[in-house]
Amino acid sequence: MNDWRLTNQAKYLINKLLLMKNYKDRTSSADHDHCEFCLDRFSEDKQDINLGYCTEDCYHWICPNCYNDFKDLFQWKIKL
Ligand SMILES: [Zn+2]
Repeated sequence: MNDWRLTNQAKYLINKLLLMKNYKDRTSSADHDHCEFCLDRFSEDKQDINLGYCTEDCYHWICPNCYNDFKDLFQWKIKL
């Protein structure tokens, strides 16, 4: 798979357990984050992404589009 969004995410995101989360419900103290793949911005502002997937520590965020595009490659599991 050759996609401009793929860099070295496999080193830390392959097979990870992800949570589907509203950004406002994050447990980190970050004011905003960026999608690990396309770098779109997550925040509580309307013009940014407000809902997506994150690692359990809310450190890495993945937007819905990238989640769909890469979920098979990365074999993510969703924590319900
Ligand atoms: Zn993305």
